[in-house]
Amino acid sequence: MSTAKSSSAARTANPTVDWHAVPSRLRARGLRWTPQRRAVVDVLSKATGHVTGSELIELCRAIDPDTTPSTVYRTLDILEELGLVRHGHGADGREEFHVLPESEHGHLYCAVCGRAWEIEAGEAAELVRSLESGRGFAVDVSHVTIVGRCAECRS
Ligand SMILES: [Zn+2]
Ligand SMILES: [Zn+2]
Ligand SMILES: [Zn+2]
Repeated sequence: MSTAKSSSAARTANPTVDWHAVPSRLRARGLRWTPQRRAVVDVLSKATGHVTGSELIELCRAIDPDTTPSTVYRTLDILEELGLVRHGHGADGREEFHVLPESEHGHLYCAVCGRAWEIEAGEAAELVRSLESGRGFAVDVSHVTIVGRCAECRS
């Protein structure tokens, strides 16, 4: 696929993630279900696609002005451990969070024009196969970021 990714935040709500189970899953780990954590989950449950940490902090502060960055990032860590979000990296290394389930993909960034594209699993298959057979290395596709120059910028 070669369409530029939409700029972060909400596309459409994602009804297939069981957000209702989050409070009990947190408690099962001995973690408290706080208003700040509820705000993070509220915001994520209405978003799909890519959300950066700072965008999340802003959206959470609209719900709960007391939200601190450390609470948001700690909650994201927990949700990633629970398999509800995953992160990739922007061209500058910045973390971008994906709300699951979403098709697994990596990211291509053009260093000249700054546009970004998603590397679909099918496109990544050859790279994944060659690293696996050559090195026995299992690639985490959703964590792959490739920076280069796009076709337009090369011409
Ligand atoms: Zn992505
Ligand atoms: Zn990472
Ligand atoms: Zn470009």
